[in-house]
Amino acid sequence: NKQVILRNYISAGFPKETDLYVTTGDIELKLPEGSNGILVKNLYLSCDPSMRPRMKKLEGSYVNSFTPGLPISGYGVSEVLDSGNPEFKKGDLVWGRTGWEEYSLITAPHLFKIQNIDMPLSYYIGILGMPGMTAYVGFYELCSPKQGEFVFISAASGAVGQIVGQFAKLLGCYVVGSAGSKDKVDLLKNKLGFDEAFNYKEEPDLNVALKRCFPEGIDIYFENVGGEMLDAVLLNMRIHGRISICGMISQYNLEKPEGIHNLIQLIVKRIRMEGFLVLDYYHLYPKFLEMIIPRIKEGKIVYVEDIAEGLENAPTALVGLFKGHNVGKQVVAVTRK
Ligand code: NDP
Repeated sequence: NKQVILRNYISAGFPKETDLYVTTGDIELKLPEGSNGILVKNLYLSCDPSMRPRMKKLEGSYVNSFTPGLPISGYGVSEVLDSGNPEFKKGDLVWGRTGWEEYSLITAPHLFKIQNIDMPLSYYIGILGMPGMTAYVGFYELCSPKQGEFVFISAASGAVGQIVGQFAKLLGCYVVGSAGSKDKVDLLKNKLGFDEAFNYKEEPDLNVALKRCFPEGIDIYFENVGGEMLDAVLLNMRIHGRISICGMISQYNLEKPEGIHNLIQLIVKRIRMEGFLVLDYYHLYPKFLEMIIPRIKEGKIVYVEDIAEGLENAPTALVGLFKGHNVGKQVVAVTRK
């Protein structure tokens, strides 16, 4: 059973490939007598920014730290090989929490059965899974979006951002995204239908870049990065703007988060800023699927994935997220199906 293991806790700094290693462990491909666990074969694994905090020794967080010396875990798409749990049976395809290994024995299931198997299975860790739900909740539930509004999204070409941008376009908003390379900016404008995009790494002043893209200001900001981008956005919000705080990837490798200086704008502009965790909204999953699957089938929403082949390449794929190496949703294909 090939597995991806965390070598040691990483308190601050960028994670490196060598912080993880791939090894082979033993696993019985049969459930122990009387077990109510679920034995799965992992097909696709998801590289998620929230896996970075789990590489630290966490206290009082909503997620657990990984354990050095043991396989790391996250979201995946898997096939059930054997089940002592009456809700799942051999042959079921599922998505949810699993180990970064070829086979996992899942004892505390957080799994959804995949019903629509005519969609690419890897989508269930992307647009049809947790990132898709994050985009849906963070945009529709938190931002009260309306046609014609000005919408800005950071890390816009990533797993979540590319979906938010397309939701906003479908609603008739003016949509701008920021991303970290020319290729990503081209992708946003030419494939994902954004009205405008800019490479934040090449902008000497983010405030100036935002004023250029939004001469009339921003109604909705979908926050994926935090730090100086949030500060610059605050200066460019319109009255009664909404900010959905989804993530702050620019802060995850720092020992201490950076200070935000322009929060007074929340008062001046009567802005509503709200954080959320997708975990609290899975009751909306069936409604979300009903909305999104037809739109994917009609080609009204597309999804860009970046697929690394094999567990051997999983450490590179995961740490690449924090350098922006992924173009679209970063997936690891363990076994393609
Ligand atoms: P992405 O697919 O967008 O991958 C991460 C991207 O972040 C990179 O490709 C890179 O893109 C960008 N990035 C990396 N480091 C920095 C940095 N220092 N400053 C600015 N940008 C950086 O990830 P996801 O779409 O999966 O996640 C997006 C955000 O949503 C994350 O912050 C994540 O933690 C959050 N999230 C929150 C959830 C919730 O429940 N609240 C659930 C899921 C995700 P680029 O090249 O453009 O810089």
